[in-house]
Amino acid sequence: MGNYYQKEIETAPREEILRIQNEKIVKQVKYVYENVAYYRDLMDKKGVKPEDIKSVDDIKKLPFLTKEDLRKGYPYALLGTDLKNCVRIQSTSGTTGQRVVSFYTQKDIDMWEECCARAIVAVGGTDEDVCQVCYGYGLFTGGPGLNGGSHKVGCLTLPMSSGNTDRQIQFMMDLGATILCCTPSYAAYIGESLAERGYKPEDNKLKAGIFGAEPWTEEMRRSIEKSLGIKAYDIYGLTETSGPGVSFECEEQTGMHINEDHFYAEVIDPETGEVLPEGEKGELVFTSLDKEGFPLLRYRTRDICVLSRKPCSCGRTFVKMSKPLGRSDDMMIIRGVNVFPSQIETVLLNQGYTPNYQIVVDRKNNNDTFDVYVEFSPDQFSDKVSDIQVKERELTAAMRSMLGIGPKIHLVPPKSIERSEGKAVRVIDKRKLHD
Ligand code: ADP
Ligand code: ZN
Repeated sequence: MGNYYQKEIETAPREEILRIQNEKIVKQVKYVYENVAYYRDLMDKKGVKPEDIKSVDDIKKLPFLTKEDLRKGYPYALLGTDLKNCVRIQSTSGTTGQRVVSFYTQKDIDMWEECCARAIVAVGGTDEDVCQVCYGYGLFTGGPGLNGGSHKVGCLTLPMSSGNTDRQIQFMMDLGATILCCTPSYAAYIGESLAERGYKPEDNKLKAGIFGAEPWTEEMRRSIEKSLGIKAYDIYGLTETSGPGVSFECEEQTGMHINEDHFYAEVIDPETGEVLPEGEKGELVFTSLDKEGFPLLRYRTRDICVLSRKPCSCGRTFVKMSKPLGRSDDMMIIRGVNVFPSQIETVLLNQGYTPNYQIVVDRKNNNDTFDVYVEFSPDQFSDKVSDIQVKERELTAAMRSMLGIGPKIHLVPPKSIERSEGKAVRVIDKRKLHD
């Protein structure tokens, strides 16, 4: 049994959580219907009235919201209260297009920071810890979210923001950081940079890392744990629902508990919109149960995952979501085959390569081209052409057996692929430019 920030709710019996959710959803749908004309129109078009929603079972009657709706309604159409009641805006990273802005009242900020505090305590954080936050600060939710959570737990917070790796390492070592918060790709880069400066994993005081904001594989987890000498935990969230902390991993490291007292999760078939039973893979949809500033109902995240209610050894009763496989729109269709960047990462790390790679897809003479650029790790580096070719062929074969198609592999020298300080750019799909 682990540590909890809010034990009573985090370990509440299922019936108690359902009772809270049912009570909140009735109020929230009424609130949205009265305050958000855009959503009221969607409900009217579907013929649903607030009175039709009596419990979370009725959520499936409500219309979906998509990123398109938020873009169309930019900036104020989904705002839930007077601007004078709002104290903050944050914005998405714009990974897949135009940015979306989200509004927060002070109550929304407190709820969000509490969710992040739950995540920090779940990895063993206490007021004795030094928490180094190197997610970006500013419009991006990563820095402000974990910063707020760290304050609530009472950690000594190092608000580093992203970038300036020399300074990150200096502060980490001089001030004895014990918890590291950043994207997994940046964590890998910090690990690599520590080794280059001659530090061994046991030289730092870190014990845990809270890494999220982008997809990462189990292989990547093991590689980061080794290079930093820590336990690496996943955290998930999106600006539209608040930011990081919608769900977080506990000591079991087998998926992320969703903060169900604030967010109601569904998994749907992305084609038909039908709600899928627990255990089936589909698109994650969130309903915020108590947000005031940006109260989205049935928001389609485009993230593909699986929910599980298997009891967890940590004692938490919140449902768990698997690592998102990637976004539905991250999936590449190359020569008719579905390919996720995470599958490529798995093969590379299993074959002893570093997580520094880039995928380039293009179309030439009506045929898809599929190239993967991969760095040699410093100890395997070779400039003998025959060595390189043998290794490239081995990797192509390993990829073919995982994906069903074989990319052209290009082994490149260490450090030649750009490192990321925030979300890594893994795929360059040039086909989109021609469309
Ligand atoms: P953007 O959609 O522009 O990247 P955000 O910065 O709000 O905007 O990022 C939210 C998205 O980041 C999520 O919808 C999800 O695709 C991704 N994400 C966040 N946390 C994780 C995680 N732990 N694992 C995989 N993907 C994640
Ligand atoms: Zn757990």
